[in-house]
Amino acid sequence: MAKIFYDDDADLSVIQSKRVAIVGYGSQGHAHAMNLRDSGVNVIIGLREGSKSIDKAKEQGFEVAKVGDAVREADVVMVLAPDQSQRSIWANDIEPNLKSDAAVFFAHGFNVHFGYIAPDSGHDVCMVAPKGPGHTVRRQYEEGRGVPVLVCVEQDASGHAWELALSYAKAIGGTRAGAIKTTFREETETDLFGEQTVLCGGISQLIQYGFETLVEAGYQPEMAYFEVCHELKLIVDLINEGGLTKQRWSCSDTAEYGDYISGPRVITPDVKDHMKEVLGDIQNGSFAKRFIDDQDAGAPEFLALRAEGQDHPVEKTGQEIRRMFAWNASVDSDYVDGEAAR
Ligand code: NAD
Ligand code: MG
Repeated sequence: MAKIFYDDDADLSVIQSKRVAIVGYGSQGHAHAMNLRDSGVNVIIGLREGSKSIDKAKEQGFEVAKVGDAVREADVVMVLAPDQSQRSIWANDIEPNLKSDAAVFFAHGFNVHFGYIAPDSGHDVCMVAPKGPGHTVRRQYEEGRGVPVLVCVEQDASGHAWELALSYAKAIGGTRAGAIKTTFREETETDLFGEQTVLCGGISQLIQYGFETLVEAGYQPEMAYFEVCHELKLIVDLINEGGLTKQRWSCSDTAEYGDYISGPRVITPDVKDHMKEVLGDIQNGSFAKRFIDDQDAGAPEFLALRAEGQDHPVEKTGQEIRRMFAWNASVDSDYVDGEAAR
Protein backbone atom coordinates (compact mmCIF):
# COMPACT_ATOMS: atom_id res chain seq x y z
CA MET A 1 0.00 0.00 0.00
CA ALA A 2 1.40 3.40 -0.97
CA LYS A 3 2.33 5.71 1.89
CA ILE A 4 0.03 8.74 1.92
CA PHE A 5 0.65 11.86 4.00
CA TYR A 6 -2.07 14.27 5.16
CA ASP A 7 -2.09 17.71 6.79
CA ASP A 8 -1.29 16.31 10.22
CA ASP A 9 1.89 14.70 8.89
CA ALA A 10 3.32 18.02 7.73
CA ASP A 11 4.56 21.12 9.54
CA LEU A 12 3.75 24.34 7.71
CA SER A 13 6.28 26.35 9.72
CA VAL A 14 9.19 24.63 7.92
CA ILE A 15 8.40 26.24 4.56
CA GLN A 16 7.17 29.43 6.24
CA SER A 17 10.72 30.02 7.48
CA LYS A 18 12.16 29.86 3.94
CA ARG A 19 12.40 32.21 1.01
CA VAL A 20 11.00 30.36 -2.00
CA ALA A 21 11.85 31.23 -5.61
CA ILE A 22 9.32 30.01 -8.16
CA VAL A 23 10.93 29.80 -11.59
CA GLY A 24 8.25 30.16 -14.27
CA TYR A 25 4.75 31.56 -13.91
CA GLY A 26 2.63 29.34 -16.12
CA SER A 27 0.03 26.75 -15.24
CA GLN A 28 1.80 25.33 -12.18
CA GLY A 29 3.91 28.41 -11.37
CA HIS A 30 1.05 30.80 -10.70
CA ALA A 31 -0.83 28.22 -8.62
CA HIS A 32 2.13 27.26 -6.42
CA ALA A 33 3.07 30.92 -5.94
CA MET A 34 -0.43 32.02 -4.92
CA ASN A 35 -1.11 29.04 -2.66
CA LEU A 36 2.28 29.41 -0.96
CA ARG A 37 1.66 33.12 -0.39
CA ASP A 38 -1.78 32.45 1.06
CA SER A 39 -0.12 29.90 3.37
CA GLY A 40 2.18 32.61 4.71
CA VAL A 41 5.27 31.73 2.68
CA ASN A 42 7.73 34.32 1.39
CA VAL A 43 7.73 33.97 -2.42
CA ILE A 44 9.71 35.57 -5.24
CA ILE A 45 9.06 34.81 -8.91
CA GLY A 46 11.99 34.25 -11.28
CA LEU A 47 11.37 34.95 -14.98
CA ARG A 48 13.54 35.64 -17.97
CA GLU A 49 13.69 39.16 -19.34
CA GLY A 50 10.90 39.90 -21.78
CA SER A 51 8.68 37.10 -20.48
CA LYS A 52 4.97 37.67 -21.01
CA SER A 53 4.39 36.32 -17.51
CA ILE A 54 6.20 39.23 -15.80
CA ASP A 55 3.26 41.63 -16.00
CA LYS A 56 0.84 38.95 -14.88
CA ALA A 57 2.90 38.03 -11.81
CA LYS A 58 3.36 41.70 -10.91
CA GLU A 59 -0.37 42.39 -11.35
CA GLN A 60 -1.03 39.58 -8.93
CA GLY A 61 1.19 41.34 -6.41
CA PHE A 62 4.36 39.27 -6.58
CA GLU A 63 7.93 40.39 -6.40
CA VAL A 64 9.46 39.44 -9.77
CA ALA A 65 13.15 39.20 -10.64
CA LYS A 66 15.41 37.71 -13.27
CA VAL A 67 15.84 33.99 -12.62
CA GLY A 68 19.44 34.34 -11.37
CA ASP A 69 18.54 37.16 -8.99
CA ALA A 70 15.55 35.32 -7.57
CA VAL A 71 17.60 32.14 -7.11
CA ARG A 72 20.44 33.96 -5.35
CA GLU A 73 18.15 34.89 -2.43
CA ALA A 74 16.25 31.64 -2.21
CA ASP A 75 16.41 28.77 0.29
CA VAL A 76 14.09 26.75 -1.91
CA VAL A 77 13.96 26.93 -5.70
CA MET A 78 10.94 25.37 -7.38
CA VAL A 79 11.56 24.83 -11.09
CA LEU A 80 8.26 25.31 -12.96
CA ALA A 81 9.46 26.24 -16.42
CA PRO A 82 8.59 23.90 -19.31
CA ASP A 83 10.45 20.59 -19.03
CA GLN A 84 12.32 21.09 -22.30
CA SER A 85 13.68 24.49 -21.14
CA GLN A 86 14.71 23.44 -17.65
CA ARG A 87 18.14 22.07 -18.58
CA SER A 88 19.39 25.37 -20.05
CA ILE A 89 17.73 27.52 -17.35
CA TRP A 90 19.41 25.30 -14.78
CA ALA A 91 22.86 25.57 -16.38
CA ASN A 92 22.70 29.29 -17.18
CA ASP A 93 20.66 30.85 -14.41
CA ILE A 94 19.97 28.51 -11.51
CA GLU A 95 23.09 26.45 -10.78
CA PRO A 96 25.57 29.38 -10.90
CA ASN A 97 23.42 31.41 -8.48
CA LEU A 98 22.23 28.74 -6.09
CA LYS A 99 23.01 29.15 -2.37
CA SER A 100 25.25 26.26 -1.33
CA ASP A 101 22.54 24.76 0.89
CA ALA A 102 19.45 25.67 -1.14
CA ALA A 103 16.90 22.96 -1.83
CA VAL A 104 15.86 22.33 -5.42
CA PHE A 105 12.26 21.34 -6.12
CA PHE A 106 10.53 20.03 -9.22
CA ALA A 107 6.94 19.20 -10.18
CA HIS A 108 7.97 16.46 -12.60
CA GLY A 109 10.99 14.19 -12.49
CA PHE A 110 11.91 14.29 -16.17
CA ASN A 111 15.13 16.30 -16.06
CA VAL A 112 16.54 14.79 -12.88
CA HIS A 113 15.60 11.22 -13.71
CA PHE A 114 17.01 11.30 -17.24
CA GLY A 115 20.16 13.08 -16.06
CA TYR A 116 19.66 16.45 -17.77
CA ILE A 117 19.90 18.17 -14.38
CA ALA A 118 22.23 16.89 -11.64
CA PRO A 119 22.37 19.16 -8.58
CA ASP A 120 25.55 18.99 -6.45
CA SER A 121 25.48 16.69 -3.45
CA GLY A 122 24.97 19.62 -1.05
CA HIS A 123 21.42 20.31 -2.22
CA ASP A 124 18.22 18.63 -1.19
CA VAL A 125 16.41 17.53 -4.35
CA CYS A 126 12.68 17.07 -3.91
CA MET A 127 9.52 16.76 -5.92
CA VAL A 128 6.04 18.01 -5.16
CA ALA A 129 3.95 17.19 -8.21
CA PRO A 130 0.24 17.99 -8.19
CA LYS A 131 -1.85 15.38 -10.00
CA GLY A 132 -3.81 18.07 -11.81
CA PRO A 133 -3.44 21.22 -13.90
CA GLY A 134 -2.29 24.42 -12.19
CA HIS A 135 -5.64 26.13 -12.52
CA THR A 136 -7.27 23.32 -10.59
CA VAL A 137 -4.52 23.44 -7.96
CA ARG A 138 -5.36 27.09 -7.36
CA ARG A 139 -9.15 26.77 -7.52
CA GLN A 140 -9.28 23.83 -5.12
CA TYR A 141 -7.03 25.61 -2.66
CA GLU A 142 -9.30 28.66 -2.69
CA GLU A 143 -12.24 26.38 -2.01
CA GLY A 144 -10.48 24.96 1.03
CA ARG A 145 -9.63 21.70 -0.69
CA GLY A 146 -6.57 20.44 -2.51
CA VAL A 147 -5.33 18.44 -5.46
CA PRO A 148 -3.46 15.22 -4.50
CA VAL A 149 0.28 15.50 -4.92
CA LEU A 150 3.21 13.15 -5.36
CA VAL A 151 6.15 13.77 -3.06
CA CYS A 152 9.64 12.37 -3.33
CA VAL A 153 13.16 13.04 -2.28
CA GLU A 154 15.96 12.19 -4.71
CA GLN A 155 18.74 13.64 -2.57
CA ASP A 156 18.54 14.32 1.17
CA ALA A 157 21.60 16.50 1.81
CA SER A 158 20.23 18.29 4.87
CA GLY A 159 18.72 15.27 6.53
CA HIS A 160 15.45 17.23 6.60
CA ALA A 161 14.41 17.03 2.96
CA TRP A 162 11.23 15.08 3.72
CA GLU A 163 9.99 17.60 6.29
CA LEU A 164 10.65 20.35 3.77
CA ALA A 165 8.90 18.57 0.90
CA LEU A 166 5.87 17.74 3.04
CA SER A 167 5.72 21.31 4.34
CA TYR A 168 5.73 22.62 0.76
CA ALA A 169 3.06 20.09 -0.19
CA LYS A 170 0.92 21.29 2.72
CA ALA A 171 1.37 24.95 1.75
CA ILE A 172 0.00 24.38 -1.76
CA GLY A 173 -2.95 22.38 -0.40
CA GLY A 174 -1.68 18.97 -1.45
CA THR A 175 -1.82 17.27 1.94
CA ARG A 176 -5.47 18.30 2.32
CA ALA A 177 -6.17 15.72 -0.37
CA GLY A 178 -3.19 13.43 0.23
CA ALA A 179 0.47 13.36 -0.68
CA ILE A 180 1.58 10.03 -2.12
CA LYS A 181 5.17 8.96 -1.47
CA THR A 182 7.01 7.90 -4.60
CA THR A 183 10.37 8.27 -6.34
CA PHE A 184 11.61 10.44 -9.21
CA ARG A 185 11.92 7.32 -11.34
CA GLU A 186 8.44 6.00 -10.63
CA GLU A 187 6.80 9.42 -11.05
CA THR A 188 8.58 10.14 -14.32
CA GLU A 189 8.06 6.77 -15.96
CA THR A 190 4.44 6.30 -14.90
CA ASP A 191 3.56 9.90 -15.77
CA LEU A 192 4.99 9.60 -19.29
CA PHE A 193 3.37 6.20 -19.76
CA GLY A 194 -0.05 7.39 -18.61
CA GLU A 195 -0.11 10.46 -20.77
CA GLN A 196 1.22 8.69 -23.85
CA THR A 197 -0.83 5.51 -23.84
CA VAL A 198 -4.10 6.40 -22.12
CA LEU A 199 -4.76 9.98 -21.07
CA CYS A 200 -3.46 11.97 -24.01
CA GLY A 201 -2.20 9.73 -26.79
CA GLY A 202 -4.64 6.87 -26.36
CA ILE A 203 -7.74 9.03 -25.93
CA SER A 204 -6.84 11.40 -28.78
CA GLN A 205 -6.38 8.53 -31.20
CA LEU A 206 -9.55 6.81 -29.99
CA ILE A 207 -11.59 9.98 -30.52
CA GLN A 208 -10.14 10.55 -33.98
CA TYR A 209 -10.79 6.98 -35.13
CA GLY A 210 -14.29 7.02 -33.68
CA PHE A 211 -15.09 10.32 -35.39
CA GLU A 212 -13.60 9.18 -38.73
CA THR A 213 -15.52 5.90 -38.64
CA LEU A 214 -18.89 7.60 -38.17
CA VAL A 215 -18.27 10.41 -40.67
CA GLU A 216 -16.92 8.01 -43.30
CA ALA A 217 -20.10 5.96 -42.85
CA GLY A 218 -22.15 9.04 -43.77
CA TYR A 219 -23.28 10.31 -40.37
CA GLN A 220 -23.27 14.05 -39.60
CA PRO A 221 -19.96 15.29 -38.15
CA GLU A 222 -21.84 17.13 -35.39
CA MET A 223 -23.47 13.88 -34.29
CA ALA A 224 -20.12 12.12 -34.41
CA TYR A 225 -18.56 14.84 -32.28
CA PHE A 226 -21.21 14.53 -29.57
CA GLU A 227 -21.00 10.76 -29.51
CA VAL A 228 -17.25 10.21 -29.43
CA CYS A 229 -15.93 13.40 -27.88
CA HIS A 230 -18.36 15.58 -25.97
CA GLU A 231 -19.87 12.80 -23.89
CA LEU A 232 -16.45 11.58 -22.84
CA LYS A 233 -16.35 14.04 -19.97
CA LEU A 234 -19.60 12.77 -18.53
CA ILE A 235 -18.28 9.22 -18.63
CA VAL A 236 -14.93 10.16 -17.14
CA ASP A 237 -16.64 12.04 -14.29
CA LEU A 238 -18.50 8.85 -13.37
CA ILE A 239 -15.29 6.80 -13.53
CA ASN A 240 -13.57 9.39 -11.38
CA GLU A 241 -16.35 9.15 -8.77
CA GLY A 242 -16.87 5.42 -8.64
CA GLY A 243 -14.67 3.56 -11.07
CA LEU A 244 -15.68 1.61 -14.14
CA THR A 245 -18.43 -0.04 -12.10
CA LYS A 246 -20.23 3.23 -11.39
CA GLN A 247 -19.94 4.22 -15.04
CA ARG A 248 -21.44 0.91 -16.09
CA TRP A 249 -24.14 1.18 -13.43
CA SER A 250 -25.13 4.65 -14.60
CA CYS A 251 -25.25 3.78 -18.31
CA SER A 252 -28.10 1.74 -19.77
CA ASP A 253 -27.86 -2.05 -19.78
CA THR A 254 -27.54 -1.76 -23.55
CA ALA A 255 -24.48 0.44 -23.20
CA GLU A 256 -23.02 -1.80 -20.51
CA TYR A 257 -23.52 -4.94 -22.59
CA GLY A 258 -21.96 -3.23 -25.63
CA ASP A 259 -19.03 -2.20 -23.46
CA TYR A 260 -18.28 -5.85 -22.58
CA ILE A 261 -18.85 -7.16 -26.11
CA SER A 262 -17.12 -4.50 -28.19
CA GLY A 263 -14.50 -2.90 -25.95
CA PRO A 264 -12.17 -5.91 -26.24
CA ARG A 265 -12.79 -6.08 -30.02
CA VAL A 266 -11.56 -2.50 -30.43
CA ILE A 267 -8.81 -2.47 -27.82
CA THR A 268 -7.30 -5.87 -28.60
CA PRO A 269 -4.50 -7.61 -26.67
CA ASP A 270 -1.93 -6.32 -29.16
CA VAL A 271 -2.72 -2.82 -27.84
CA LYS A 272 -1.21 -4.00 -24.56
CA ASP A 273 1.86 -5.28 -26.41
CA HIS A 274 2.23 -1.83 -27.97
CA MET A 275 1.86 -0.24 -24.55
CA LYS A 276 4.73 -2.40 -23.33
CA GLU A 277 6.86 -1.18 -26.23
CA VAL A 278 6.04 2.43 -25.37
CA LEU A 279 6.93 1.75 -21.73
CA GLY A 280 10.24 0.26 -22.89
CA ASP A 281 11.09 3.41 -24.83
CA ILE A 282 10.28 5.50 -21.76
CA GLN A 283 12.38 3.33 -19.45
CA ASN A 284 15.42 3.16 -21.72
CA GLY A 285 15.41 6.94 -22.22
CA SER A 286 14.80 6.88 -25.96
CA PHE A 287 11.53 8.83 -25.71
CA ALA A 288 13.25 11.48 -23.58
CA LYS A 289 16.15 11.70 -26.04
CA ARG A 290 13.84 12.00 -29.04
CA PHE A 291 11.82 14.76 -27.34
CA ILE A 292 14.84 16.77 -26.17
CA ASP A 293 16.81 16.35 -29.43
CA ASP A 294 13.81 17.62 -31.38
CA GLN A 295 13.32 20.54 -28.96
CA ASP A 296 17.01 21.42 -29.22
CA ALA A 297 16.67 21.54 -33.01
CA GLY A 298 13.78 24.00 -32.78
CA ALA A 299 11.08 21.33 -32.41
CA PRO A 300 10.43 20.61 -36.12
CA GLU A 301 8.82 17.23 -35.46
CA PHE A 302 6.79 18.49 -32.50
CA LEU A 303 5.46 21.52 -34.38
CA ALA A 304 4.59 19.49 -37.48
CA LEU A 305 2.67 16.97 -35.37
CA ARG A 306 0.88 19.74 -33.51
CA ALA A 307 -0.21 21.34 -36.81
CA GLU A 308 -1.40 17.99 -38.12
CA GLY A 309 -3.40 17.37 -34.94
CA GLN A 310 -5.06 20.78 -35.08
CA ASP A 311 -6.07 20.12 -38.68
CA HIS A 312 -8.03 16.96 -37.94
CA PRO A 313 -11.72 17.32 -38.90
CA VAL A 314 -12.86 16.51 -35.34
CA GLU A 315 -11.14 19.70 -34.26
CA LYS A 316 -12.91 21.87 -36.83
CA THR A 317 -16.30 20.39 -35.96
CA GLY A 318 -15.59 20.72 -32.25
CA GLN A 319 -14.67 24.38 -32.52
CA GLU A 320 -17.88 25.20 -34.36
CA ILE A 321 -20.03 23.24 -31.94
CA ARG A 322 -18.45 24.62 -28.80
CA ARG A 323 -19.12 28.15 -30.05
CA MET A 324 -22.81 27.32 -30.33
CA PHE A 325 -23.20 25.95 -26.82
CA ALA A 326 -22.59 27.55 -23.47
CA TRP A 327 -20.77 24.82 -21.59
CA ASN A 328 -17.35 26.37 -22.13
CA ALA A 329 -18.30 29.94 -21.22
CA SER A 330 -17.22 29.74 -17.61
CA VAL A 331 -14.07 27.69 -18.01
CA ASP A 332 -11.22 29.43 -16.26
CA SER A 333 -8.25 28.98 -18.53
CA ASP A 334 -5.43 30.65 -20.38
CA TYR A 335 -6.70 28.78 -23.44
CA VAL A 336 -9.38 30.36 -25.56
CA ASP A 337 -10.68 27.92 -28.16
CA GLY A 338 -8.42 28.09 -31.20
CA GLU A 339 -5.92 30.34 -29.52
CA ALA A 340 -3.58 29.69 -26.60
CA ALA A 341 -3.10 32.84 -24.58
CA ARG A 342 0.22 31.83 -23.07
P1 NAD B 1 3.79 26.25 -18.52
O1 NAD B 1 4.20 26.08 -19.93
O2 NAD B 1 2.36 26.47 -18.20
O3 NAD B 1 4.58 27.48 -17.88
C1 NAD B 1 5.94 27.64 -17.98
C2 NAD B 1 6.38 28.97 -17.41
O4 NAD B 1 7.79 29.05 -17.53
C3 NAD B 1 5.82 30.18 -18.15
O5 NAD B 1 5.49 31.18 -17.20
C4 NAD B 1 6.99 30.68 -18.97
O6 NAD B 1 6.97 32.05 -19.15
C5 NAD B 1 8.15 30.28 -18.08
N1 NAD B 1 9.38 30.12 -18.81
C6 NAD B 1 9.55 29.62 -20.06
N2 NAD B 1 10.84 29.67 -20.40
C7 NAD B 1 11.49 30.22 -19.35
C8 NAD B 1 12.82 30.57 -19.10
N3 NAD B 1 13.75 30.34 -20.02
N4 NAD B 1 13.14 31.10 -17.89
C9 NAD B 1 12.18 31.33 -16.96
N5 NAD B 1 10.89 31.03 -17.15
C10 NAD B 1 10.56 30.50 -18.33
O7 NAD B 1 4.37 25.00 -17.72
P2 NAD B 1 3.62 24.04 -16.68
O8 NAD B 1 2.63 23.21 -17.41
O9 NAD B 1 3.21 24.83 -15.50
O10 NAD B 1 4.81 23.04 -16.29
C11 NAD B 1 5.80 23.38 -15.34
C12 NAD B 1 6.27 22.11 -14.66
O11 NAD B 1 5.20 21.52 -13.94
C13 NAD B 1 6.77 21.04 -15.62
O12 NAD B 1 7.84 20.36 -15.01
C14 NAD B 1 5.58 20.12 -15.75
O13 NAD B 1 5.92 18.80 -16.11
C15 NAD B 1 5.03 20.18 -14.34
N6 NAD B 1 3.64 19.80 -14.19
C16 NAD B 1 2.69 20.38 -14.96
C17 NAD B 1 1.36 20.04 -14.76
C18 NAD B 1 0.27 20.68 -15.58
O14 NAD B 1 -0.85 20.17 -15.53
N7 NAD B 1 0.48 21.77 -16.30
C19 NAD B 1 1.00 19.10 -13.78
C20 NAD B 1 2.00 18.55 -12.98
C21 NAD B 1 3.32 18.92 -13.19
MG1 MG C 1 0.85 13.27 -15.70
